[in-house]
Amino acid sequence: MNILSFDIEEWFHPEIFNGMFPQSSWDKLEPRVEKNTEIILNFLNRKRLKATFFFVGWVAEKYPQLVQAVAQEGHEIGSHSYAHSMITKMTPESFREDLKRSLDVLNSLSNHSVIGFRAPTFSITKETLWAIPILFEEGIRYDSSVFPIYHDRYGIPDAPREPYQIYKNGDDGVWEYPMTTVQFGNFNLPVGGGGYFRLYPFSLTQYLMKKCIREGRNLIFYAHPWEFDLGLPRVKMGVLKSLRHYTGIKKFLDRLDRLTDLFPFTSFREVLSSRVQQN
Ligand SMILES: [Zn+2]
Repeated sequence: MNILSFDIEEWFHPEIFNGMFPQSSWDKLEPRVEKNTEIILNFLNRKRLKATFFFVGWVAEKYPQLVQAVAQEGHEIGSHSYAHSMITKMTPESFREDLKRSLDVLNSLSNHSVIGFRAPTFSITKETLWAIPILFEEGIRYDSSVFPIYHDRYGIPDAPREPYQIYKNGDDGVWEYPMTTVQFGNFNLPVGGGGYFRLYPFSLTQYLMKKCIREGRNLIFYAHPWEFDLGLPRVKMGVLKSLRHYTGIKKFLDRLDRLTDLFPFTSFREVLSSRVQQN
């Protein structure tokens, strides 16, 4: 089964802003995450779909009722860290502290214990694999942060493209669900969602996803609340960055509607529980 996931963060959290909005400024910036997440919730409700919501802990702390509403609708709550810092910029100690802080707030609001993690900006790379045993020790059992591509900010280009056990501890461990790619020769093309979903023509996304499914592989789709925001604040940046960040926002909901008509999707939790039942 294919997986739908949403990284619940504010419009000023993406790494593309490169330090323009330090944490000390967050309380003074216009809040938009709550109503954008409600767009996602209404959409899922209308389509009778379940998904995984990886919350930034800072957002969960500010909007506990939003996390509770997501959980009550039967969606899965996962962690997208506490303060949305790339792991590549953290030490093992500061990473553990940030993770614990996010899990404390999320576990207190969710009716299931939180076992899923997505790193900010897909920042599980070869340099940050030390983070995986820490995830395990803090109760995480699956991670969906590895992008098997070349990219200026993230990626492990030669990582497996299928789900794999990234860390083993006796009979237990951590499973990695890498972001979806399609292989052409030695090159992996991302097709997972977010900016790629906005920038590619829909026909290309559809072609690539069908190819994945023909190869017997499941899709992992991801998106952010700000990608549904028709009033998304415009921040001045370079032309290329601006294209990457603002293209395709208007069409996003409509495209997701078409995508979920074409392929079946659900949450990580549902996929993992059906796997346990099969064994
Ligand atoms: Zn993020």
